[in-house]
Amino acid sequence: MPRIPLVDLGGQYQQLKSDINAAIQRVLDRAHYILGPEVQELERQMARDNGTAHAVAVASGTDALELSLRALGIGPGDEVITTPLTFFASSEAIMAVGARPVFVDIDPASYVIDPSLIESAITPRTKAILPVHLYGHPCDMPAILAIAKRHRLKVIEDCAQATGAALHDQRVGSFGDAAAFSFYPSKNLGAYGDGGMVLTNDARLAAEVRLLRFHGSRDRIHHERIAKNSRLDDLQAAILLVKLQHLHSWNAARRAHAEHYRQTVERVGIGEMELPQERPGAYHVYHLYVVRVPNRSALQQQLTELGVSTQIHYELPLHLEPALASLGYRQGQFPHAERATQEILSLPMYPELTSELIETVVSRCKEALGQVAPQPTHTG
Ligand SMILES: *Cc1c(COP(=O)(O)O)cnc(C)c1O
Repeated sequence: MPRIPLVDLGGQYQQLKSDINAAIQRVLDRAHYILGPEVQELERQMARDNGTAHAVAVASGTDALELSLRALGIGPGDEVITTPLTFFASSEAIMAVGARPVFVDIDPASYVIDPSLIESAITPRTKAILPVHLYGHPCDMPAILAIAKRHRLKVIEDCAQATGAALHDQRVGSFGDAAAFSFYPSKNLGAYGDGGMVLTNDARLAAEVRLLRFHGSRDRIHHERIAKNSRLDDLQAAILLVKLQHLHSWNAARRAHAEHYRQTVERVGIGEMELPQERPGAYHVYHLYVVRVPNRSALQQQLTELGVSTQIHYELPLHLEPALASLGYRQGQFPHAERATQEILSLPMYPELTSELIETVVSRCKEALGQVAPQPTHTG
């Protein structure tokens, strides 16, 4: 049996091939390659789909974070409260504008920032909170917004792993002052290259991000800011417009796969494997399917030998990253995040995954954990 991959982007392209090829051909024939009509249409559809007034396409999710922070006026001397368990870019963007990330620990059940720990991290320099909807699980936005309101802080949502996720039927990205999305190929809505987007309800903020993505110029004559080149191209936008039509059924498929993982693990009985949980009201979109086990390294090694691809998201909590050593954090300060980084393992998860593959992954987990799987009961 061939290796079971963590994601299968090639398989997805084969299913969409004629639509994607036609979209690419349309862009080539029109010969408008950067910030053209496809980008405008994608901005329109993303804003409408996620319930915000404005959307501004940029070159990556990292830029979407950085330009949001900058457009909100966050810079040197400011502090931004965020989570230590996330992809490096969440903090890198804060550092890039000259501000300081201030970490608070996670809720160990959902892996996202624990709002009950935020207020004790607020100082006179705190300007914003940057919650990350990690793995596709929405943060507790009502609690975070209440704290932000009390302390007059801005809220920038990192939605890179959570396109389409919702909390009490409200889409992530529509809660805060600004939200950053990533179109990195393996994300739930992924391009065939880099891309990102800022969503906001604030017209002034959207206009500022538009300035910042294009050399600080609105008319290509005058340059009002020293900014950067952070544009999305029409080829990526055209591909994303095809894929956006499938996003919600793909997310539903990811959720069904998560449920099938749960049922299969319960059926074969793997007591030591903790499965992802959903907080009440959370519409988790399972960008990653992250389990935790005490003997993670052994399990990962065994699964590799058994032909199941896995990955660790992430091996280092950000406060222990070498590039952030200057912040002065030490081991032991965020015990839940630290323990998670030692126990988490991402199993294969993508819309095109099948029930059979999930059952194979689970029985190999059982085998790898040194137990003998009972004969699978027949499921129709
Ligand atoms: C992927 C990701 C980013 C960065 O997005 P890019 O498009 O790769 O720049 C930021 N934050 C999180 C949580 C991510 O997963």
